[in-house]
Amino acid sequence: MPRFGGHEARLLLATVRPERRQATGIIGLLFIALLLRLAMPAMLGWFVDSAIDGRPADFLTRIAVAYVAVALTAEILQLSVTWGAVNLSWRAGNRLRERLSRHALRLEMGWHGRHSPGQLIERIDGDVEALAVFFANVLVHVVGNVALMIGMLTVAFVIDPIAGGLLVLTSIVGALILVKLRTAAVPAREAEREANAILYGDLEERLGGLEDLKANGAGRYAVHRLHTNSARSWRTARSAAWLGDGSYAVAAVTFAIGSVATLALGFVLHDRNLVSIGQVLALFRYSEMLRQPLERIAEQLKELQKALAGARRASLLLSTELAIADGPLGDEALPSGALAIDFDDVAFTYTGASEAALHHVDLHIAPGTHVGIVGRTGSGKTTLGRLVLRLWDATEGSVRIGGVDVRDLEVAALRRRVSVVTQDVELFRTSLHDNLTMFGSRPATDAELRSVLHQVGLDTWFAHQTDGLDTQVSGAQSLSAGEAQLLAFARALLADPDIVVLDEASSRLDPVTEAKLSAATDALLRGRTALIVAHRLATLDEVDEIVVVDAGRIAEHGSRSELARDGTSRFAALLAVSGIEAAEEEGLGA
Ligand code: ATP
Ligand code: MG
Repeated sequence: MPRFGGHEARLLLATVRPERRQATGIIGLLFIALLLRLAMPAMLGWFVDSAIDGRPADFLTRIAVAYVAVALTAEILQLSVTWGAVNLSWRAGNRLRERLSRHALRLEMGWHGRHSPGQLIERIDGDVEALAVFFANVLVHVVGNVALMIGMLTVAFVIDPIAGGLLVLTSIVGALILVKLRTAAVPAREAEREANAILYGDLEERLGGLEDLKANGAGRYAVHRLHTNSARSWRTARSAAWLGDGSYAVAAVTFAIGSVATLALGFVLHDRNLVSIGQVLALFRYSEMLRQPLERIAEQLKELQKALAGARRASLLLSTELAIADGPLGDEALPSGALAIDFDDVAFTYTGASEAALHHVDLHIAPGTHVGIVGRTGSGKTTLGRLVLRLWDATEGSVRIGGVDVRDLEVAALRRRVSVVTQDVELFRTSLHDNLTMFGSRPATDAELRSVLHQVGLDTWFAHQTDGLDTQVSGAQSLSAGEAQLLAFARALLADPDIVVLDEASSRLDPVTEAKLSAATDALLRGRTALIVAHRLATLDEVDEIVVVDAGRIAEHGSRSELARDGTSRFAALLAVSGIEAAEEEGLGA
């Protein structure tokens, strides 16, 4: 089992470092509260001894009033400490959430393929929550309670060394038991969190695919999976609770024995006139109070265990190397305007896949050329586009744009120059404005936004939106497939890339939308290099070149008109199958 180590400690320190002034303030207040609480049993003893000594009533009243004042102040201070600690932990927690989110967003598609969204949420939110609770409750209280214990033991020693020794012994035995059990519970906590991550991940996925599940009658299977997962979650939670709460119970018993022993010792000492009744009372109160901090510590060890597991996983996530790392070159390394695309003997295998998706791909596309990519489903068309955008890196060979290896470019610079419009358009539940500008990451004026909407032929649709650019888009479902595609085009236009990768939606659109889409495609591709993955050959009427992909290899590459004319070409055969007559093609091509 990996132990809590330097990585985790550094992560925690880095997270709280910006809060160190507030933390110092909080701990300062805490210590004052502790001193007051430490004084209370001594005041009680003083009161009892004064009463036995027959001191006047107003003297006793003054002690009583002071006692109440001290108790009240201690409570108020404790309240301020809690308030400050919760605030501090929120800020620190959010800082960590931000760091984790940033890192997760930069991780490559392969990593995201292996981790469901639910798992990611649990990691970033659930684990950080555990850490935040740690900051709020554990750090401050553990420090405070340890200090309180030291204070009480010191006072006990001053009253009577033997009584002090007894309390020290009780504390040491209790603490040892707790430390032993604490380490035993960490793996159980970790298993619990992992089981929860799987449960929520599955749940998220199932809810996301609700429509498909219902349509295919897979509901029973999904419910069965849910049962299995929640059963595992419950089992792991139970063993974690056994181990975690066990330590709490053992400590409670230890301190009960300690208190009884202190009381017995107190009476023996009083019998020998070594201590007063008031001091016996104070010692007994201390022995009782000694229990509380250790109980608190035990209680918070549960959180500490969660926090340790959370910290370990957070630091694991942060230390996941970026497979797609920035190269040294910025935008300026690329020529301006449309860019060439070159695949030099590229081979590519998806992580974990047994077979390569691409083999020995050599493909050279001149700047400004529009290339239609055709081939059977699963032949590797989408994969080609992904390599250009560096959603994945080639396993062998290299991909260049504008003559520069994509791995030598800063990822952000690369993605400024290349836009991909994918098969499934992703629309977000936010305003039309934010959907187009990708939450403002591509700043644009309202006029520019209207202009791109016009260019893709969405003006009629836009005119019907009562809220204009503030119209709330509630996910892809609220638009027709055609409108969603057009919106994606508008988004790509706004990015003003020099290479466009267009992965055609395989769903069929009505002829009117189809015509609109074709006009929008023209607007989008003008003056840019384009890879157009098409399922309908009609889409490729206007392209310059055709690439036929077959089982991950380039089976054919040439000028569209020549390939269409050449009766022996694969493309001509495809045209024939799709019902577009070669003769008609020749007419168009000439
Ligand atoms: P379609 O016409 O259906 O869109 P395509 O030509 O675009 O197909 P790709 O998506 O490039 O095909 O897939 C090429 C091969 O790689 C297929 O065998 C596919 O199963 C596999 N593949 C695609 N994406 C992944 C992935 N994320 N992980 C593992 N294998 C993948
Ligand atoms: Mg595809």
